[in-house]
Amino acid sequence: MNEQRPIIVWFRRDLRLSDHAALTAACASNAPVIAVFIRDPLVDRLGAAPKWRLGQGLAALESRLAEMGAKLILRSGPALDTLLALLAETGAQGVYWSRLYDPESVARDTDIKAQLRAQGVEARSFGGHVMFEPWSVQTKTGGMYKVYTPFWRSVKDRSVDAPRSAPPTLCAPETWPQSERLADWHLGAAMRRGALIVARHAQVGESAALDRLAEFIEDDVADYVQMRDIPSKRGTSGLSENLALGEISPHQCWHAGMRALHEGKAGAEVFLKELVWREFAYHLMHHSPHILTSNWKPDWDKFAWYTDAAHPEVIAWQQGRTGVKFADAAMRELYVTGKMHNRGRMIVASYLSKHLLTHWRIGQAWFEECLTDWDPASNAMGWQWAAGSGPDASPYFRVFNPDTQLDKFDPKGFYVKRWIAEGQSDPPETALSYYEAIPESWNLTARDIYPSPARDLAAGRQRALDAYQNRGF
Ligand code: FAD
Repeated sequence: MNEQRPIIVWFRRDLRLSDHAALTAACASNAPVIAVFIRDPLVDRLGAAPKWRLGQGLAALESRLAEMGAKLILRSGPALDTLLALLAETGAQGVYWSRLYDPESVARDTDIKAQLRAQGVEARSFGGHVMFEPWSVQTKTGGMYKVYTPFWRSVKDRSVDAPRSAPPTLCAPETWPQSERLADWHLGAAMRRGALIVARHAQVGESAALDRLAEFIEDDVADYVQMRDIPSKRGTSGLSENLALGEISPHQCWHAGMRALHEGKAGAEVFLKELVWREFAYHLMHHSPHILTSNWKPDWDKFAWYTDAAHPEVIAWQQGRTGVKFADAAMRELYVTGKMHNRGRMIVASYLSKHLLTHWRIGQAWFEECLTDWDPASNAMGWQWAAGSGPDASPYFRVFNPDTQLDKFDPKGFYVKRWIAEGQSDPPETALSYYEAIPESWNLTARDIYPSPARDLAAGRQRALDAYQNRGF
């Protein structure tokens, strides 16, 4: 019999067993391990798609633990109260978790650590969600990096911890605490009928993520530079949804990318650079958390963005009915798959914030609702980058023209045909599934006439440039 008191491993955005420092440390102590997920107010506040996707990830983690004879204990309530109740019930000696970096999680976790320690409980947080702790990367003068390229240069030669294997076994407690049932949480409720459609496009769980990484490194990374910008191709890793929930660690991706680099696979370095964009987003969020909620460059507070989220042009943008094909295809891809190609994200964000002069926070919120790979840091950085209010070496007056971008990245129209059904005699399943996924209240059908653009692209660009010219700062 194991005489040791159990250790609670509190899972959050680290839904994996391999390369999990907190779990490894708990197992190394030979104590029984109780894996717990808490549905606290931060979970309840998630948007519809990320919350649904979290439910899928939790189900996969439950199965993974069950294969090892272990359980995932599910509890609802404020995290501290829930942990205290579990500690009392189980007599656990400690609580271990992987660090998060958004300000709300940091505030919650800092308080929990202090309160638990004050009660003699061993409360330990571990790295793993990012490769480079945001405070460990500093400019020569000790400040934060505000531009990506010097950030990349400063981290690219750092050594990144080699990924840990999953523990071979988990020591079970004498009795398992009671658990709520995942199905009773109804995490997909806000997705309504869309959940069934999005599910077809999700790559859920640790095993699927590791398989995809291996496949990507074997088959795709060599051509990544040419293919990553073609939205009709599967030229990228597609791992963002897994990274967002920690079903795979950035370290695992980094080391796989490094191996490919050493094997001379051409696109590997650019893949590593993309992983570092994610790190940069976390660096920015840590050092300037206002990036989540207000203009990163405060001067932009004086800029008169439109803020009417119910404006017909904003609704048309959400519904993929602007008449601007690249933007519409991308918005429909988002609704059907829960993801959007990076090029599409740049186009729709530029169109909303520049052609429509609409506040980037409206777009950020819509992505937060619809993206299964929603990540607070990358989403905020992406939107502020597109809007011009964020840290960006490129000038704010760069306004993408969605039509010329289409000529460049989808010259044969494959992407547009995949997503826009109107006007096609035999639209593909992908385009039709949009109508099954959207709320019925939108009242749209594939037989509708595809709209003409409400806004002339050249005039919209000029209006944005004039507004920037007269912005008064
Ligand atoms: P790959 O090309 O295979 O890249 C590998 C990984 O690198 C990605 O999974 C991702 O973790 C990281 N990465 C790649 N590009 C970026 C980038 N520009 N910024 C930060 N990390 C990057 N990414 C999210 O994960 N969640 C978001 O909520 C999110 N919102 C965005 C909003 C806007 C307006 C923009 C312009 C970009 C946003 N991105 C977001 C970044 C990027 O579009 C996605 O990470 C990428 O499309 C994911 O596809 P992939 O996994 O195939 O990427």
